[in-house]
Amino acid sequence: MYLKRIELLGFKSFADRTVLEFGPGITAVVGPNGSGKSNITDAVRWVLGEQSAKTLRGSKMEDVIFAGSSARRPKHYAEVSLTLDNQSGALPLEYAEVTVTRRVYRTGESEYAICGQPCRLKDIAELFYDTGVGKEAYALIGQGRVEEIIAAKPEERRAMFEEAAGIVKTKARKREAQRKLEETEANLTRLADILVELE
Ligand code: ATP
Repeated sequence: MYLKRIELLGFKSFADRTVLEFGPGITAVVGPNGSGKSNITDAVRWVLGEQSAKTLRGSKMEDVIFAGSSARRPKHYAEVSLTLDNQSGALPLEYAEVTVTRRVYRTGESEYAICGQPCRLKDIAELFYDTGVGKEAYALIGQGRVEEIIAAKPEERRAMFEEAAGIVKTKARKREAQRKLEETEANLTRLADILVELE
């Protein structure tokens, strides 16, 4: 699996539709200071579900929408699509290419889609479980991240190994099952109380 294409529209400095194609192997993005290199990595993080404006180097989520310039009006929304090559079948979908999209409006409302089908943020997170891709996963190593990993507490570092070992999905499902069990137990207790009252 590798990142094949990024399509940006109205995201930070990318006011117009911009398509970046990547081949297998190493790609370097070069450009003068302030030309938008980091905005590209912000876009990747953002599509994968980043909810913290600070991590995206802004103060509120609206800051990812093109703010306008002396020559251009601000945009009403920002949209980014990532296309991943899935010929290896690393993603659990029957497509050789998988596109995930996020759009945000100035109201703060976000929309997500997988291969053009509207979905929830949870579906995007689940799609990438155990693949190393994800807003917190090791496929994205930002500035200072290596030092952070070295200095991290053992339990924080363990999360990274769990992702690599492929057990994150199972752990998430276990948590969900435990939550449902607790809810069912609470319902059973309530039912028992009602039965006692009726008897
Ligand atoms: P450096 O090499 O200095 O790290 P860079 O190439 O990584 O720079 P970025 O930090 O990606 O550059 O881009 C910064 C530019 O993006 C700034 O010119 C900033 O004005 C612009 N920018 C950020 N957010 C928006 C926005 N919402 N609307 C318009 N422009 C924006």
